[in-house]
Amino acid sequence: MAKPKVAFYWNASCGGCEEAVVDLAEDILKVVEAVDIVLWPVAMDFKRSDVEALKDGEIAVSFLNGAVRTSEQEDWAKLLRRKSGLVVAFGSCAHLGGIPGLANFYDREGVFRTAYRHVPSMEGGNGVEPRRKTKMPEGELELPEIYDTVHALDQVIDVDYYLPGCAPPADLIMEAVGAILKGELPPKGSVLAPDKSLCDTCDRNESKPEKLQITELKRPHQTFMDPEKCFLAEGVVCMGPATRSGCGERCINANMPCRGCFGPTDQVRDQGAKFLSALASIIDIKDPEEMERLTESIPDPTGVSYMYSLATSLLTRKQLGK
Ligand code: SF4
Ligand code: SF4
Repeated sequence: MAKPKVAFYWNASCGGCEEAVVDLAEDILKVVEAVDIVLWPVAMDFKRSDVEALKDGEIAVSFLNGAVRTSEQEDWAKLLRRKSGLVVAFGSCAHLGGIPGLANFYDREGVFRTAYRHVPSMEGGNGVEPRRKTKMPEGELELPEIYDTVHALDQVIDVDYYLPGCAPPADLIMEAVGAILKGELPPKGSVLAPDKSLCDTCDRNESKPEKLQITELKRPHQTFMDPEKCFLAEGVVCMGPATRSGCGERCINANMPCRGCFGPTDQVRDQGAKFLSALASIIDIKDPEEMERLTESIPDPTGVSYMYSLATSLLTRKQLGK
Protein backbone atom coordinates (compact mmCIF):
# COMPACT_ATOMS: atom_id res chain seq x y z
CA MET A 1 0.00 0.00 0.00
CA ALA A 2 1.28 3.49 -0.84
CA LYS A 3 2.56 5.40 2.16
CA PRO A 4 0.85 8.73 3.02
CA LYS A 5 2.65 11.70 1.52
CA VAL A 6 3.94 14.31 3.97
CA ALA A 7 5.44 17.77 3.39
CA PHE A 8 7.42 20.05 5.68
CA TYR A 9 7.81 23.69 4.75
CA TRP A 10 9.21 26.84 6.38
CA ASN A 11 8.03 30.40 6.12
CA ALA A 12 9.22 33.30 8.34
CA SER A 13 10.98 31.37 11.08
CA CYS A 14 14.40 30.95 12.66
CA GLY A 15 14.88 27.31 11.60
CA GLY A 16 14.32 26.01 15.14
CA CYS A 17 11.17 24.12 14.09
CA GLU A 18 13.22 22.28 11.45
CA GLU A 19 15.69 21.40 14.22
CA ALA A 20 12.78 20.08 16.29
CA VAL A 21 12.01 17.53 13.56
CA VAL A 22 15.68 16.51 13.40
CA ASP A 23 15.65 16.35 17.24
CA LEU A 24 13.22 13.44 17.01
CA ALA A 25 16.52 11.48 16.87
CA GLU A 26 15.89 7.77 16.21
CA ASP A 27 12.12 8.42 16.13
CA ILE A 28 12.66 10.23 12.81
CA LEU A 29 13.37 6.76 11.32
CA LYS A 30 9.88 5.62 12.41
CA VAL A 31 8.39 8.69 10.69
CA VAL A 32 10.42 8.17 7.51
CA GLU A 33 9.41 4.49 7.45
CA ALA A 34 5.71 5.28 7.83
CA VAL A 35 5.42 8.18 5.35
CA ASP A 36 6.65 9.35 1.97
CA ILE A 37 8.25 12.80 2.41
CA VAL A 38 7.56 14.85 -0.73
CA LEU A 39 8.93 18.23 0.43
CA TRP A 40 11.45 19.17 3.13
CA PRO A 41 13.67 22.05 1.99
CA VAL A 42 16.03 21.89 4.98
CA ALA A 43 16.95 18.27 4.31
CA MET A 44 15.93 17.19 0.79
CA ASP A 45 16.16 18.65 -2.69
CA PHE A 46 12.59 18.92 -3.96
CA LYS A 47 11.50 21.75 -6.24
CA ARG A 48 8.28 23.74 -6.35
CA SER A 49 7.51 22.05 -9.68
CA ASP A 50 7.54 18.65 -7.87
CA VAL A 51 4.78 19.90 -5.56
CA GLU A 52 2.85 21.55 -8.41
CA ALA A 53 2.86 18.23 -10.27
CA LEU A 54 0.99 16.48 -7.41
CA LYS A 55 -2.80 16.18 -7.57
CA ASP A 56 -4.83 18.50 -5.34
CA GLY A 57 -5.19 16.89 -1.91
CA GLU A 58 -2.55 14.24 -2.71
CA ILE A 59 -0.34 15.20 0.25
CA ALA A 60 -1.89 13.64 3.37
CA VAL A 61 -0.50 16.31 5.70
CA SER A 62 1.69 19.39 5.41
CA PHE A 63 3.50 20.72 8.46
CA LEU A 64 4.12 24.44 7.92
CA ASN A 65 6.29 26.38 10.32
CA GLY A 66 6.90 30.13 10.36
CA ALA A 67 4.74 33.20 10.02
CA VAL A 68 3.73 34.65 6.64
CA ARG A 69 5.34 38.01 5.82
CA THR A 70 6.19 37.82 2.11
CA SER A 71 4.31 37.19 -1.12
CA GLU A 72 6.43 34.07 -1.73
CA GLN A 73 5.46 32.61 1.66
CA GLU A 74 1.79 33.32 0.96
CA ASP A 75 2.08 31.58 -2.44
CA TRP A 76 3.69 28.51 -0.89
CA ALA A 77 1.12 28.35 1.90
CA LYS A 78 -1.73 28.50 -0.64
CA LEU A 79 -0.08 25.89 -2.89
CA LEU A 80 0.43 23.47 0.01
CA ARG A 81 -3.11 24.07 1.25
CA ARG A 82 -4.44 23.07 -2.19
CA LYS A 83 -2.26 19.99 -2.41
CA SER A 84 -2.89 18.76 1.18
CA GLY A 85 -5.65 16.92 2.98
CA LEU A 86 -4.51 18.35 6.33
CA VAL A 87 -2.42 21.39 7.19
CA VAL A 88 -0.77 21.63 10.61
CA ALA A 89 0.54 25.02 11.79
CA PHE A 90 3.82 23.86 13.31
CA GLY A 91 5.36 25.98 16.06
CA SER A 92 4.66 29.40 17.58
CA CYS A 93 5.26 31.50 14.46
CA ALA A 94 2.77 29.58 12.28
CA HIS A 95 0.36 29.23 15.23
CA LEU A 96 0.42 32.81 16.58
CA GLY A 97 2.77 34.93 14.45
CA GLY A 98 5.56 34.30 16.97
CA ILE A 99 8.65 36.47 17.32
CA PRO A 100 8.47 37.68 13.66
CA GLY A 101 4.99 39.00 14.55
CA LEU A 102 6.60 41.60 16.82
CA ALA A 103 7.37 43.45 13.56
CA ASN A 104 3.69 44.42 13.67
CA PHE A 105 4.71 47.13 16.15
CA TYR A 106 6.22 48.81 13.04
CA ASP A 107 5.54 48.95 9.31
CA ARG A 108 7.78 47.66 6.53
CA GLU A 109 9.59 50.98 6.16
CA GLY A 110 10.29 51.09 9.91
CA VAL A 111 11.64 47.54 9.86
CA PHE A 112 13.86 48.31 6.85
CA ARG A 113 15.10 51.55 8.42
CA THR A 114 16.17 49.72 11.57
CA ALA A 115 17.56 46.60 9.88
CA TYR A 116 19.42 48.28 7.02
CA ARG A 117 20.42 51.67 8.47
CA HIS A 118 20.21 52.02 12.25
CA VAL A 119 21.44 48.80 13.84
CA PRO A 120 25.09 49.16 14.98
CA SER A 121 26.22 46.37 12.64
CA MET A 122 25.03 48.47 9.65
CA GLU A 123 26.97 51.60 10.68
CA GLY A 124 29.11 52.65 7.76
CA GLY A 125 27.02 50.47 5.44
CA ASN A 126 25.71 51.79 2.15
CA GLY A 127 22.07 52.01 3.32
CA VAL A 128 20.81 49.86 0.46
CA GLU A 129 17.40 48.36 1.22
CA PRO A 130 15.76 45.39 -0.52
CA ARG A 131 13.92 46.37 -3.72
CA ARG A 132 11.28 44.38 -5.55
CA LYS A 133 13.11 44.76 -8.87
CA THR A 134 16.79 45.35 -9.62
CA LYS A 135 18.23 45.78 -13.11
CA MET A 136 21.44 43.84 -13.67
CA PRO A 137 23.48 43.40 -16.87
CA GLU A 138 22.09 39.87 -17.07
CA GLY A 139 18.46 41.02 -16.75
CA GLU A 140 15.95 42.06 -14.08
CA LEU A 141 16.08 40.37 -10.67
CA GLU A 142 12.86 40.18 -8.66
CA LEU A 143 12.42 39.68 -4.92
CA PRO A 144 9.17 38.68 -3.17
CA GLU A 145 7.17 41.53 -1.65
CA ILE A 146 7.67 42.00 2.09
CA TYR A 147 4.33 42.87 3.72
CA ASP A 148 3.70 45.60 6.29
CA THR A 149 1.91 43.04 8.46
CA VAL A 150 3.17 39.64 9.63
CA HIS A 151 0.44 36.99 9.64
CA ALA A 152 -0.07 33.72 11.46
CA LEU A 153 -0.76 30.82 9.06
CA ASP A 154 -4.53 30.71 9.67
CA GLN A 155 -4.81 34.38 8.73
CA VAL A 156 -3.75 33.33 5.20
CA ILE A 157 -5.06 29.78 4.68
CA ASP A 158 -7.40 27.34 6.38
CA VAL A 159 -5.51 25.40 9.08
CA ASP A 160 -6.64 22.03 10.47
CA TYR A 161 -4.44 21.68 13.58
CA TYR A 162 -1.88 23.58 15.59
CA LEU A 163 1.30 22.19 17.17
CA PRO A 164 2.40 24.89 19.60
CA GLY A 165 5.82 25.81 20.92
CA CYS A 166 9.10 27.48 20.07
CA ALA A 167 9.87 24.85 18.98
CA PRO A 168 7.23 22.10 19.48
CA PRO A 169 8.65 19.39 21.76
CA ALA A 170 9.47 15.94 20.37
CA ASP A 171 6.79 14.10 22.40
CA LEU A 172 3.99 16.32 21.07
CA ILE A 173 5.28 15.96 17.50
CA MET A 174 5.33 12.17 17.77
CA GLU A 175 1.86 12.10 19.36
CA ALA A 176 0.53 14.27 16.52
CA VAL A 177 2.17 12.12 13.83
CA GLY A 178 0.79 8.97 15.52
CA ALA A 179 -2.73 10.42 15.75
CA ILE A 180 -2.64 11.47 12.06
CA LEU A 181 -1.40 8.05 10.90
CA LYS A 182 -4.05 6.24 12.96
CA GLY A 183 -6.76 8.74 11.98
CA GLU A 184 -7.43 9.45 15.65
CA LEU A 185 -7.49 13.21 15.51
CA PRO A 186 -9.44 15.61 17.75
CA PRO A 187 -11.92 18.08 16.20
CA LYS A 188 -10.60 20.33 13.46
CA GLY A 189 -9.03 23.50 14.82
CA SER A 190 -7.63 21.84 17.94
CA VAL A 191 -4.29 22.78 19.44
CA LEU A 192 -2.46 19.47 19.88
CA ALA A 193 -1.40 20.09 23.50
CA PRO A 194 -3.12 19.98 26.91
CA ASP A 195 -5.77 22.64 27.49
CA LYS A 196 -4.40 23.66 30.90
CA SER A 197 -2.35 26.64 31.96
CA LEU A 198 1.36 26.22 32.59
CA CYS A 199 0.87 27.23 36.23
CA ASP A 200 -1.42 24.18 36.61
CA THR A 201 1.45 21.82 35.78
CA CYS A 202 4.38 23.83 37.15
CA ASP A 203 6.10 22.37 40.24
CA ARG A 204 6.71 25.86 41.57
CA ASN A 205 2.99 26.60 41.85
CA GLU A 206 2.88 25.17 45.37
CA SER A 207 5.48 27.67 46.53
CA LYS A 208 3.03 30.54 45.92
CA PRO A 209 1.70 32.15 49.09
CA GLU A 210 -2.05 31.84 49.66
CA LYS A 211 -2.56 35.53 48.83
CA LEU A 212 -0.07 36.44 46.13
CA GLN A 213 0.86 40.14 46.21
CA ILE A 214 3.84 41.97 44.80
CA THR A 215 5.08 45.54 45.12
CA GLU A 216 7.96 45.50 42.64
CA LEU A 217 9.00 43.80 39.42
CA LYS A 218 12.51 42.58 38.73
CA ARG A 219 14.16 41.39 35.55
CA PRO A 220 15.91 38.00 35.71
CA HIS A 221 19.40 39.53 35.79
CA GLN A 222 18.47 41.86 38.67
CA THR A 223 17.76 39.19 41.26
CA PHE A 224 18.77 35.79 42.56
CA MET A 225 16.15 33.38 41.23
CA ASP A 226 15.49 30.65 43.77
CA PRO A 227 15.03 27.44 41.69
CA GLU A 228 12.21 26.29 44.01
CA LYS A 229 10.08 29.45 44.05
CA CYS A 230 7.39 30.79 41.71
CA PHE A 231 8.87 33.57 39.57
CA LEU A 232 5.78 35.76 39.79
CA ALA A 233 5.68 35.50 43.57
CA GLU A 234 9.29 36.73 43.53
CA GLY A 235 8.31 39.69 41.33
CA VAL A 236 9.78 38.29 38.09
CA VAL A 237 7.47 38.41 35.05
CA CYS A 238 6.43 34.84 34.12
CA MET A 239 3.73 34.23 31.49
CA GLY A 240 2.67 30.92 33.11
CA PRO A 241 -0.85 32.08 34.10
CA ALA A 242 -1.65 33.00 30.46
CA THR A 243 0.16 30.14 28.70
CA ARG A 244 -0.86 26.63 27.66
CA SER A 245 1.06 23.76 29.24
CA GLY A 246 2.64 20.86 27.36
CA CYS A 247 6.23 22.03 26.94
CA GLY A 248 7.45 20.09 29.98
CA GLU A 249 8.19 23.45 31.70
CA ARG A 250 11.37 23.72 29.63
CA CYS A 251 12.28 27.29 30.61
CA ILE A 252 11.15 26.92 34.23
CA ASN A 253 13.37 23.84 34.62
CA ALA A 254 16.29 25.90 33.31
CA ASN A 255 15.42 28.51 36.00
CA MET A 256 14.08 31.01 33.48
CA PRO A 257 10.53 32.40 33.49
CA CYS A 258 8.03 31.42 30.79
CA ARG A 259 7.74 33.81 27.84
CA GLY A 260 4.50 32.31 26.51
CA CYS A 261 5.55 30.41 23.39
CA PHE A 262 2.74 27.82 23.70
CA GLY A 263 0.12 30.54 23.36
CA PRO A 264 -3.06 30.75 25.39
CA THR A 265 -5.48 27.98 26.39
CA ASP A 266 -8.78 27.56 24.51
CA GLN A 267 -10.61 29.75 27.04
CA VAL A 268 -8.41 32.80 26.39
CA ARG A 269 -8.83 35.04 23.32
CA ASP A 270 -5.87 37.38 23.95
CA GLN A 271 -2.81 36.01 25.73
CA GLY A 272 -1.18 39.40 26.40
CA ALA A 273 -4.36 40.92 27.85
CA LYS A 274 -4.89 37.81 29.98
CA PHE A 275 -1.37 38.10 31.34
CA LEU A 276 -1.64 41.83 32.05
CA SER A 277 -4.92 41.21 33.85
CA ALA A 278 -3.33 38.42 35.95
CA LEU A 279 -0.38 40.68 36.74
CA ALA A 280 -2.59 43.65 37.67
CA SER A 281 -4.57 41.43 40.06
CA ILE A 282 -1.50 40.70 42.22
CA ILE A 283 0.05 44.17 42.34
CA ASP A 284 -0.41 45.59 45.83
CA ILE A 285 0.21 49.30 45.29
CA LYS A 286 -2.23 52.14 45.96
CA ASP A 287 0.00 55.18 45.46
CA PRO A 288 -0.14 56.39 41.78
CA GLU A 289 3.52 57.48 41.78
CA GLU A 290 4.63 54.11 43.12
CA MET A 291 2.46 52.47 40.46
CA GLU A 292 4.14 54.51 37.74
CA ARG A 293 7.55 53.51 39.07
CA LEU A 294 6.53 49.85 38.88
CA THR A 295 5.17 50.06 35.31
CA GLU A 296 8.31 51.87 34.18
CA SER A 297 10.41 49.05 35.61
CA ILE A 298 9.19 46.82 32.71
CA PRO A 299 11.14 48.22 29.72
CA ASP A 300 8.80 46.81 27.04
CA PRO A 301 5.47 45.69 28.59
CA THR A 302 3.65 45.04 25.30
CA GLY A 303 6.67 43.25 23.83
CA VAL A 304 6.84 40.99 26.89
CA SER A 305 3.09 40.27 27.11
CA TYR A 306 2.68 39.71 23.35
CA MET A 307 6.13 38.25 22.64
CA TYR A 308 4.69 35.34 20.63
CA SER A 309 1.07 36.31 20.02
CA LEU A 310 0.87 39.91 18.77
CA ALA A 311 -0.20 38.96 15.22
CA THR A 312 -3.18 36.93 16.49
CA SER A 313 -4.06 39.19 19.42
CA LEU A 314 -6.93 41.67 19.51
CA LEU A 315 -4.33 44.36 18.80
CA THR A 316 -2.93 42.52 15.71
CA ARG A 317 -0.63 45.39 14.86
CA LYS A 318 0.15 49.06 15.44
CA GLN A 319 -2.15 51.21 13.30
CA LEU A 320 -0.51 51.84 9.94
CA GLY A 321 0.48 55.44 9.31
CA LYS A 322 0.58 56.33 13.03
S1 SF4 B 1 3.95 31.89 37.36
FE1 SF4 B 1 5.59 30.73 36.36
S2 SF4 B 1 6.87 29.91 38.03
FE2 SF4 B 1 4.91 30.56 38.93
S3 SF4 B 1 3.67 28.70 38.94
FE3 SF4 B 1 3.19 29.80 37.02
S4 SF4 B 1 4.58 28.92 35.48
FE4 SF4 B 1 5.36 28.34 37.52
S1 SF4 C 1 8.17 27.56 29.63
FE1 SF4 C 1 6.91 28.97 28.37
S2 SF4 C 1 8.33 29.94 26.89
FE2 SF4 C 1 9.38 28.13 27.80
S3 SF4 C 1 8.98 26.44 26.35
FE3 SF4 C 1 7.35 26.36 27.93
S4 SF4 C 1 5.64 27.60 27.08
FE4 SF4 C 1 7.48 28.10 25.90
